[in-house]
Amino acid sequence: MKSYHISSTTLLASVQHDRVVWKFEKNEVYSFSSAYRNIMEHDPYTHQHRINGEWHQIWRTKTPPQIKNFLWRVMCGCLPTRLCLQARGVNCPSHCPFCNEDKDNLHVLFMCPMSIQCWQRIGVWSTISFALNNPDDITHSNFGILHKLDKSQHLIFSALIWSMWKHRNNKVWNDTTETFQFVCDRASALLDS
Ligand SMILES: [Zn+2]
Repeated sequence: MKSYHISSTTLLASVQHDRVVWKFEKNEVYSFSSAYRNIMEHDPYTHQHRINGEWHQIWRTKTPPQIKNFLWRVMCGCLPTRLCLQARGVNCPSHCPFCNEDKDNLHVLFMCPMSIQCWQRIGVWSTISFALNNPDDITHSNFGILHKLDKSQHLIFSALIWSMWKHRNNKVWNDTTETFQFVCDRASALLDS
């Protein structure tokens, strides 16, 4: 049988070794962000669901991943609030577990008296109330709020909105009522850790 010795084939000097390259980054190294950006820009299905906004305000902050993930869910309108669950056919009450008002999603995070106490506690309520100029659109209301907060306010805002949601879940599922002081302290503790 005739044998071939491929390794002995002489290549031209200009020929380089094959290597895997990623064409969506200048350094040709794969990154998750460039893959995500490419899909969002070129895939027709994801493109139609794209939500425009200053997303870097979430991704570039130095907050734990669970906070970034939570804010992303808020912005996308996929937080499982009672009204959202009802809209998807879940049989559950629609009233707020804290004040018994029958309110919308904006109420849950910002307008509920419990939420307002927390925002006042960290000193950003006036900024938030000013930014809530388009209450029908929670996504752009949130982007507007983030845009107006300075760096340190941005961090505590992000942690507190996560802590308030945790508070709401504890109330609904465990019938546990936390003080607004406790909710604020949990947000600070998460950032400190
Ligand atoms: Zn309420």
